[in-house]
Amino acid sequence: MINFADLNYLDVKKKFSKIFIDLDRKKLSMRTNQIWKFYYQKGYFKPSLFSNLPSEIIKAIENKINFTRLKIKKKQLSKDGTIKWLLELKDKNLVETVYIPSESHGTLCISSQVGCTLNCKFCHTGTQPLVKNLSSNEIINQIMVAKDELNEWFEQKKINNIVYMGMGEPLYNFENVKKSVQILKDTNGLNFSNKRITISTSGISPNIKKAANEIGTYLALSLHAPNNNIRNSLMPINKKFNIKNIIEDCNHYTKENKNKIFIEYVLLKNINDSAKCAKQLSNIMSKFPCKLNLIQFNPWPGVKYTPSTYEQTLKFIEIVQKNGHIVTLRKSRGDDILGACGQLKTASERAKRFSSFLKN
Ligand code: SAH
Ligand code: SF4
Repeated sequence: MINFADLNYLDVKKKFSKIFIDLDRKKLSMRTNQIWKFYYQKGYFKPSLFSNLPSEIIKAIENKINFTRLKIKKKQLSKDGTIKWLLELKDKNLVETVYIPSESHGTLCISSQVGCTLNCKFCHTGTQPLVKNLSSNEIINQIMVAKDELNEWFEQKKINNIVYMGMGEPLYNFENVKKSVQILKDTNGLNFSNKRITISTSGISPNIKKAANEIGTYLALSLHAPNNNIRNSLMPINKKFNIKNIIEDCNHYTKENKNKIFIEYVLLKNINDSAKCAKQLSNIMSKFPCKLNLIQFNPWPGVKYTPSTYEQTLKFIEIVQKNGHIVTLRKSRGDDILGACGQLKTASERAKRFSSFLKN
């Protein structure tokens, strides 16, 4: 049975037109709007909660569409207020979703895949082979569960920004991510504007161009290195789509989208944090509208890198700023519960190993 959050508004309308063949167009639109709002604005997770609907309508959709949420397998609360949920998908795979509150706003970091194929050397998720792309409903349901948990339906908004920075490479799950963004942006649905959604990519060249035309959110580019030599050693994907390719794509993106791109750069001690690196990075940054988001490296068990020192971080920032660029430093949040960027990894790895074991 299809899950409601696998359908965007138009899909729902199409589906309803097949379920309710007797309804005229006006009534069909009315019912679609009602149910869409019950689900996305009131948070009702089963048709029996849909008040004022005729019982035959409730019965018909109950038999054709699944409205259930993902199951919470584990919840961890960091001392800084960050919350990490481990969610179980219907097929028993696990994904992680992280809520990061700050004084002025709350950010929800969602996953787009179980694992990742790209194997960036500093990223914990990269050590977990790809198990699967998440469906639109598995992406949207992370937000629905977080809203349930934060009791957001009837109180003030607690999730102001959605970032696709959890597990996986969103642009390698293009169609499902695109559908989830359509649902997020729907003003009668979850109602997040373009500027409240950020998709982070390691630089999947052809899909950056496609995203500019078809998705259109803020874009964050995980650059992490100022030249191809260093980037090849940190991010194997650079051998396929190198810095020159990415610069062209980012240029295209900002022409379509008008907003600056966030360059993400994890500072790794003695790897990419020298003054020379800062100058090279400044040079790249002058090629398209962007600002720099420096990230403190979050270590995880078994990793060979260490975070840059505070002094080196300040020096790096100063050089990039002197070259006329905007720089922010993102402190790690939720690191005591391995909820910070790049620390997400779940037991699905074991499931994956087990399933390949069975195949051999
Ligand atoms: N695959 C996408 C989105 C998920 S990763 C991407 O790579 O952009 C989200 C962000 O966390 C990326 O910028 C990634 O480079 C960064 N990251 C990965 N491992 C990290 C670590 N150990 N410490 C800090 N940031 C990390
Ligand atoms: Fe995948 Fe992003 Fe981690 Fe690289 S940084 S392994 S692309 S999740």
